[in-house]
Order: sequence, then C-alpha cells, then structure tokens
Amino acid sequence: MSNKVIVSVDVEDWYHGPTVISPRDEQTTIGHFLSTRQGIERAAKYVDICLEMLAAHDMKATFFWVAEYAKRHEHLLRRVAEQGHEIGCHGLAHYSKLDCATKAPVFGVGEFAARTEMAKHMLEDMTGTEVIGYRAPNAYFSGKMFDALEELGFRYDSSVSVNSIYNKTDSALKGVGTAPYYPARGELKPGDAKRRMLEFPWPYFDVGVAKLPSAGGPFLRTFGSALTIAGLHQSLRRGHAVFYFHPIDICKEDIPLPFSPSRPMMWLFKGDMVRRRIERVLSEFRGVSANFREVVDADPA
Ligand SMILES: [Zn+2]
Repeated sequence: MSNKVIVSVDVEDWYHGPTVISPRDEQTTIGHFLSTRQGIERAAKYVDICLEMLAAHDMKATFFWVAEYAKRHEHLLRRVAEQGHEIGCHGLAHYSKLDCATKAPVFGVGEFAARTEMAKHMLEDMTGTEVIGYRAPNAYFSGKMFDALEELGFRYDSSVSVNSIYNKTDSALKGVGTAPYYPARGELKPGDAKRRMLEFPWPYFDVGVAKLPSAGGPFLRTFGSALTIAGLHQSLRRGHAVFYFHPIDICKEDIPLPFSPSRPMMWLFKGDMVRRRIERVLSEFRGVSANFREVVDADPA
C-alpha cells in the first residue's frame, strides 16, 4: 500500500479537556458536571457536519469516541459506523492517564486496563463491531499503556507525538519519527521485534531548527492549514501520516469556559473558519487517504 494520510476524528465535548474535568475530583466528574450544568453540550450536533465533510471528499475516517459520550449519543455513534467509518476508543471519560506536570501515571496499569476494557466493550456492544484502535485522551501516553492495550486485543494506537514543543509521554522518544513503528516492551522507543500492535505517531514539519506539530487539532485551529498541509506532505515521504480534528472544532456557539490561563489559545479559533481549514486539508489529500483499519489490514509498516 502506498503511503496514506490517515484521517481521524476525536469525538469529545469541550468539557472533556484537562482544565475542566479531573478524574480525582468528585466535583468535576462528568456525571456531577452534567447534572449541575444543563444545556452545556456543544459537540454532538457537529458530528453530522463532520460526516458531510468526509462524504464530500469521498473519505472514510476513524472516529475515536469517548465511550461515556458515545453512550449518551448512541444514535450518532451508530450513524458514523453505518456510513462505513471505523470506530476507535478514546477512553472511558477522556481523563488524562499521566499527570500533566510530572508524567507520573494517574491510574495504575490494572485500573487503566479495566477502564479501557469497559470502554472498548461499550463501543463494541453499541456498534456490533470489534474495536481495534486507541487514542489516548489529551495524548498523554506511556509504554505500559501500550502493553496493556495489546493485552486487551487492540491492534494499534495513535497517540505519540514527536515535536519540538511538547512531549506528553514518559519516554524520551529517541528514534521515533512519523512513520508507524513497533515500540519496545514497556517503552515507547522503537523495539527490535514486530508485535501484534503498532504505534502510528503524529506528523511534524521539520524546518531544520524545530519539528512543528502538524497532525491537526489545536495547531490547525490556531495556525491555519498551511503548516498542517506542509507537515503532512513531508511526513508522507517517511510513511503513513496521521491527521485529526474534532467536531467541537467547528462549533459556532460560545463555549461556556472559553478561556483557560494555562491554555489561552485553546478556543480562540473555532467555527466556520476552522471548518474551512479542515476542508482545505481534506481537499489537499483527497484520493490519498485511508482510515486506520484499512492500513492495519494491509501492509502497515
Ligand atoms: Zn481527545
């Protein structure tokens, strides 16, 4: 299989972000949050627009769903699956699995595995299809998580991002580029042996002095499509390249907590402007795209 741009959509709402809900604070768990703040959901109505955008470009994507969100919007989950898109797992409740500051695990491996297994089964029960792909919430990821996912029967993950701006893993990521690879046991650096499960790291645009993130998401929202397109073209020369966006990215309504001091740019750009940016990327790679399952089922690495 020639190198593809792998298109993915992370289905979550604005309040799943790490500055809003926290796994260790009962006052901000999702059930409490929703019961005390009515009418705050924003993302669900934009899932259909994402489907329209993909259909207009003849693309089949992978939709990584937060399982508790899928449970509350089951009709949408089913519609996505019925239109031929792959369903992947984006955690049970979108809690970061590593502490943002220290990179220490928030959950032990056993608790992580139990929660993820529950999420996988929820998505499989609702769609009747095996879920083989995982993306870590907020992209906080570790080698131990990778091993646990492999034990649960997943066949790939796409959470690792090598760039010059942040590293959300507990690993130095030495030797990791942008092409799919098999990590060493317990780590995220490349290993010697093939495994059941692959990692699809995110693309970057290497400008010589820095590697700029170009997988989409907040960098597409903030800096526009040119950087993302340049990084995807460059990464395609190294192997398959991953692109992602969120339904919430194209939300036109106000977001209840638009400003976070730790992430001041987070929702500065959204709505129709971002929709046009996503569409520019989709147009650029029309005809050379795939979803993860298609690549994993072919010749992935
Ligand atoms: Zn997410």
